[in-house]
Amino acid sequence: MPKHCATCSRSENEARFYGQFCEYCTRDKLLNSLPQTLGITVCKRCERVWTGHRYSLPTKKAVEDALLLGIKGYSLKLLEYDGRRAKLELGEKIGDDKILVDKEFEIKQKNSVCDDCYKRSSGYWEGLVQLRGSEERVKRTEEKIKRYIEHTSAFIAKTEEVPNGLDVYISDKKAANEAMLFLRLKPITTYTLYGLKQGKRVYRNTYAIHLY
Ligand SMILES: [Zn+2]
Ligand SMILES: [Zn+2]
Repeated sequence: MPKHCATCSRSENEARFYGQFCEYCTRDKLLNSLPQTLGITVCKRCERVWTGHRYSLPTKKAVEDALLLGIKGYSLKLLEYDGRRAKLELGEKIGDDKILVDKEFEIKQKNSVCDDCYKRSSGYWEGLVQLRGSEERVKRTEEKIKRYIEHTSAFIAKTEEVPNGLDVYISDKKAANEAMLFLRLKPITTYTLYGLKQGKRVYRNTYAIHLY
């Protein structure tokens, strides 16, 4: 006696079976259990997408990771994507087997601002470099610091002219420390308690540099 599908009565001779159900019914059941719409969180400034741990450039892999946040437990392959609709191949494991379906989803973009863009727009800084000395040497050192910082993920939050020099504000103190070492600036460094972040004390560094 061949097996018959518990839903549509197709026999084992007509279709592949996944447990009690034929492949058609298994596929229908999977399609019906999926949502019509998937969300994706996008930084409106840099257009990177939220993949669950961080914002990434919208590569195929990143978009797949981002969409998977809304339909956990499946394997997912991005077939088509234009920001408003996505065609996906989804796979579900059933025992030792895997069933695949193609489905189109409507994409709902949620606009956000990523940490990096937020820091940039809010003038966030962790390191203040106080350059003091002759105008020419101050200017030259500022250029070197700028060039160094451009090659890191940090940025110059602002630059301010002060009597006898220039204050350069750097977003990230690790990058600021590295710049000091790399450029052999030998600053006098002081630390100021700035606030608390997740229960940890956050310090801002001030690097005093006298160029004579
Ligand atoms: Zn069936
Ligand atoms: Zn951003």
